[in-house]
Amino acid sequence: MTLLGCIADDLTGATDIALNLVRNGMKTVQVAGVPESQVDLDGADAVVVALKSRTIPARAAVEQSLNALDFLLSAGAEQIFFKYCSTFDSTDQGNIGPVLEALQHKLACDVTIACPAFPEAGRSLFQGHLFVNGRLLSESSLRDHPLTPMRDPDLVKVLQRQSGGQVGLVPWEVVRTGHAAIAQKIEAARTEGKTLLIVDAIVDDDLRAIGQAVASHKLLSGGSGLAIGLPENFRRAGKLHPYDPVAGFDYPSGAGAILAGSCSAATREQIKNAITVGFPALQLDPFKLAKGSAEVQRACDWLSERLDETGLPPLVYSTASPDEVRDFQVEYGRDRAGKLVEEAHKTLARHLFGLGVRRFMVAGGETSGAVVEALGVPMLEIGPEIAPGVPWTRSIGGDETVALALKSGNFGDADFFSKAWGMSQQ
Ligand code: ADP
Repeated sequence: MTLLGCIADDLTGATDIALNLVRNGMKTVQVAGVPESQVDLDGADAVVVALKSRTIPARAAVEQSLNALDFLLSAGAEQIFFKYCSTFDSTDQGNIGPVLEALQHKLACDVTIACPAFPEAGRSLFQGHLFVNGRLLSESSLRDHPLTPMRDPDLVKVLQRQSGGQVGLVPWEVVRTGHAAIAQKIEAARTEGKTLLIVDAIVDDDLRAIGQAVASHKLLSGGSGLAIGLPENFRRAGKLHPYDPVAGFDYPSGAGAILAGSCSAATREQIKNAITVGFPALQLDPFKLAKGSAEVQRACDWLSERLDETGLPPLVYSTASPDEVRDFQVEYGRDRAGKLVEEAHKTLARHLFGLGVRRFMVAGGETSGAVVEALGVPMLEIGPEIAPGVPWTRSIGGDETVALALKSGNFGDADFFSKAWGMSQQ
């Protein structure tokens, strides 16, 4: 029976939380979208439903999230976790508040925590303010994200602007004193009429204390970091059996390829590094993509020529600087611009599969969602960790197995692609 059910608002976020659950001893499967028919969850302790809802209108995100909730409850989930980005990627029109409030309503929860922090990955929260690698969110590269530019680092205010209820804070002065004090503060906030609580965390042990404090909550929300404390709750309750995560993970044979649609600073560095060490690379021109199919065809032809099972995998990227992204968005609008590029990556993914590629490395959350959809992958199992938050995964339940390294844009060191490729060669 499933213990924990997670609803993730994008695919790499889903993989990220699944990795943290696996690392802490929970057998976890990831489902791409809400399954339309019965699926075999293989006795998983935790099930993560990966939606592609981060930037869709609130009403659609609520509907998809409630469908995911129904699926998870029918699988037996005792606790529900709504997972969003550790950098809270969501504009004032965004859907984190509306989705949380809809889940609260359905689960009859009058207060729920919201903790995107993950100190190990460089995301910490202090006095409700989010820091990314030591810089305020609004001064980090997320300021210029193509879809969700983050210009306000005060998450109490950001979440309040999206929510009907009252947003409060569990400050670090409380968090540092441990789980009992956190639980007490949550209860006090509930009696004051607060409905959503941003919770500070500046070291990973804070996340474990928060996890313990909310063991009996039906609904939680946050980044993948919050999940590190949850398996222990189930273990303490005698519900979790020992589980060896990586045993037996092997890679399908077949060529490899890289698709990068993230424009994040880390991805831009990783592409530079890949080119320097000799990965064959081709950049897509989004203006040409918008004009017709010739640009994608050019990339397909290039890939057909380049694919060589013995050499380094080819890299096709739409990745561009914030100025270039802005120019393209001014002409086509933010959403249409994103969709145009994602459609190109989908076509390329299908083409690569046709060429025999079975090991895909993908940069970007939305981009990964698009690629997995194009490949028709129904479920993923989690394999070895390439970088914090990014494992190799392997498809399950489809006709043919593919291995996928799905990277949230800002994750991984500069040599990410070399490292991922090297691991898949062993
Ligand atoms: P990240 O994980 O860094 O947020 P995503 O893939 O989630 O990356 O988001 C990047 C978005 O930017 C996608 O919708 C993608 O299609 C879009 N995009 C990629 N390249 C460009 C470009 N050159 N101009 C405009 N938008 C782009």
